[in-house]
Amino acid sequence: MRVLIVEDEEKVSSFIKKGLESEGFVVECVADGIAGLDKATESSFDVIILDLMLPGLDGLSVLRQIRQRDINTHVIILTARASVKDRIEGLNNGADDYLAKPFSFGELLARIRALLRRNSDNKKPVLSFDGLEIDPQKREVRRNCRGPK
Ligand code: CA
Repeated sequence: MRVLIVEDEEKVSSFIKKGLESEGFVVECVADGIAGLDKATESSFDVIILDLMLPGLDGLSVLRQIRQRDINTHVIILTARASVKDRIEGLNNGADDYLAKPFSFGELLARIRALLRRNSDNKKPVLSFDGLEIDPQKREVRRNCRGPK
C-alpha cells in the first residue's frame, strides 16, 4: 500500500512516515502543494494525507485539481484548521476523511485502514459455485478447500 504525505511540517510528516512504514506501508513525503499535486498526478497511491496550509499551493486547491484530473485516490485532510465549516468545505471538495491536529497516530491509521476497506468492498465479488470460487478481479478460479467434508 502506497501513501503520499503532503505536509510542510517536517516533524509531522516524518512522524507519520515512520509510523506507517512500521505498519508495512510504502510512504513518500513532499513539503509543498505543487510537488504534492505533481506526485499525486504522476504516480499512483492508495491514500494521500493532505495538509491544508501549504506553501506553493494550498491543500484545498491541490485537492480540487486532483479531483478535476479524475484521480480518485482516497484523500485524508490533516490540519489544524478544523472548524465545522472547514470540514464541510474539505469534504465537499472531494476529501474522503478529515482529521484535526493534534491527532493520534492510532486514529490516523484506523482511518486509513477504514478507507482501504471501503476500497476492497467495491471490488467485484468472488463467485462461488459447487466448491469452486471464481474471482473476476484476479481472473482466478480456485477450488474451495475448507478441509474434509
Ligand atoms: Ca502546514
